[in-house]
Amino acid sequence: MTSVFIISAPSGSGKSTLVDKVRPEVPGLDFSVSYTTRPPRGSEQDGQEYFFVSRPQFEEMVRQDQFLEHADVFRNYYGTARRFLLQAEDHGKDLLLDIDVQGAEQIMRKIPRAVGVFILPPDRNTLERRLRSRSQDSEEVIQLRLATATREIENYSKYDYILVNDRLEESTEALKAILLAERLKRSGAQPLSADDNAMVAMAELHRLNNMRARIEPILGSFRTGGA
Ligand code: ADP
Ligand code: 5GP
Repeated sequence: MTSVFIISAPSGSGKSTLVDKVRPEVPGLDFSVSYTTRPPRGSEQDGQEYFFVSRPQFEEMVRQDQFLEHADVFRNYYGTARRFLLQAEDHGKDLLLDIDVQGAEQIMRKIPRAVGVFILPPDRNTLERRLRSRSQDSEEVIQLRLATATREIENYSKYDYILVNDRLEESTEALKAILLAERLKRSGAQPLSADDNAMVAMAELHRLNNMRARIEPILGSFRTGGA
């Protein structure tokens, strides 16, 4: 059965960077390319990062019930087309969704077996630095993203796993371990090799209940607006 992995994060946490690193290393994983009404940024190409559509086109797709979920994020519409899940099921692949917390809630309701991974920055100042270093947004948009992050982060407990994206190499290994460990669990394979056991142990470290102490100071930095 197709596993559905939801990856959410406040904008600028490093989600795209992490997903781009992990995707080539995990075979059998389809990636859902979302539809959006926001204009392309930088070198983004239609059909690669997103399908770029107009508001009337998006609204027509909503009317035709073509979306598994959709949401208004930063004043634009974003949506996951149903056909990506159907294709993954047809091809016996797992599906990775990179979506915001509103979309994640909709998917978790519709597909209770979906596995949620929430990526957090180490603290608010680091997030602000990453947003600035990406040099893609105006000051107004950076402030909007920081304010939205503060709200989004409060939703962390709806996710199965929490990943604090501090050192990129470690975060990449951890995300890979979560995806592979979940897949292994669903396959029911027994007994596990020593490598598989190590991977499952690494994934477990990132379970919500094992991360609560690590999350508290991060939440604190957002509530007080500092590091
Ligand atoms: P998101 O997809 O969550 O909006 P990006 O992947 O675009 O975020 O990352 C935001 C910025 O932070 C980029 O400039 C990226 O290179 C940088 N970045 C991502 N992960 C790390 C990390 N672990 N350490 C330092 N910089 C990072
Ligand atoms: P960006 O415009 O920076 O690429 O993405 C902004 C936000 O929209 C990110 O949090 C991203 O995860 C989210 N997003 C991207 N695609 C979708 C989608 O199909 N559905 C929902 N709900 N959010 C999405």
